[in-house]
Amino acid sequence: MRAISPDYPRPKIPTAPVLSLATFLRDKHRPAPSILNHAGARFVTSGRMAIGLALQQMKIGPGDKVLLPAYNCSSMVEPVISIGATPVFYKIRPDTSVDLDDIEAHLDGNAKALLVTHYFGFPQTLSVVRRLCDQRGVMLVEDCAHSFFGGSDTSPVGAYGDYAIASSMKFFPIFDGGCLVSTRHDIGKIPLRSAGFGFEAKAVLNTLEKGFEYGRLKAVELLLYLPMALKNLAWRKIKNTAPTKYKAFGPGASDGGFSFEPSWLDKKSSLCSRVLIALASKSRIAAKRRANYMRLQEALADLPDCRPLFAQLPEEVVPYVFPLVARDPARVFPLLKNAGVPVIRFGEFLWDGVDETLCPVSVDLSRRVMQFPCHQELKPAELDWMIGQIRHIFLMKGVA
Ligand SMILES: *Cc1c(COP(=O)(O)O)cnc(C)c1O
Repeated sequence: MRAISPDYPRPKIPTAPVLSLATFLRDKHRPAPSILNHAGARFVTSGRMAIGLALQQMKIGPGDKVLLPAYNCSSMVEPVISIGATPVFYKIRPDTSVDLDDIEAHLDGNAKALLVTHYFGFPQTLSVVRRLCDQRGVMLVEDCAHSFFGGSDTSPVGAYGDYAIASSMKFFPIFDGGCLVSTRHDIGKIPLRSAGFGFEAKAVLNTLEKGFEYGRLKAVELLLYLPMALKNLAWRKIKNTAPTKYKAFGPGASDGGFSFEPSWLDKKSSLCSRVLIALASKSRIAAKRRANYMRLQEALADLPDCRPLFAQLPEEVVPYVFPLVARDPARVFPLLKNAGVPVIRFGEFLWDGVDETLCPVSVDLSRRVMQFPCHQELKPAELDWMIGQIRHIFLMKGVA
């Protein structure tokens, strides 16, 4: 059972990228390496579905163990449970790198696969992990959910794993999306089918609505006023007469849920998402995310009772978020949330059994690391507003 979070107000600025006309702007920056540098990516509806497909390809099932990091979110664990295998958690170090000794200690004959996450877009050093996997006959799954982009031209993210997965929704203004790549195995024959017209329609409408909600796409909104009004009417009718059918048009992963729905395992990502990924300017995404990250780092550098999780932003990193380690998370987290700041905590709800005795570092990170968006669709004024709120809250005195 997962804990339920309190009802916080809706974030005042978008937590994740929302569609705007700028999404398509070309810029002068060089193309950023990404998981798509590996040919033959398969586009599914979420990152967890890509994990599910990887497990299926590796023929993992009941009796097999899959090693997962103790610092996790349940969407990484659910696919393992769903396929009938046993998750085994390994330790993470304070800088989020994997604890190799602990991984090695868990490699018995039943451990078939190891999943490694590049937290927040900062790549793990995988050469040693790869060698260990080769020696011990274990499959490596590279979890690039936070690192769609990154690495170098010669070695983009996703190069080391038997399989690599990404969560496209975290980097592109789309309703649904995850992808699976492999530099070592043929994934071209995995059968994927369309999830149907209802889903395709929901993907388009939801993408537009998210943009409208945060004041983007004003001209498009005007143009679409009539069709949207008609659509709302039709949608409302479906919602009221067949609520379960309406929900089933889209996967839970697209509505912020963490669960694993096996019925989506063989479904293609929506056409809308695939087209937007193809058309969006990738160099702009990389450059803006890096610039926004640096802006946050500089603007928060002198704040008391916190520090950036990573001291530097290396050249090869395209950050997912700006992670800040707070000394007193129980005080600042609810204040930030109530102010409408789109702060999130990875691992806020750790898997049952992942506790202080299993990995104190993961428990500590899950409490302390506040993640602020640095995505490409944040406007300068929104970034300034967020910085102002964070500064105000960290500088407040006497509310210990
Ligand atoms: C979000 C996430 C996933 C799953 O991606 P979805 O697209 O939400 O299914 C997997 N691993 C990590 C580290 C994530 O943060």
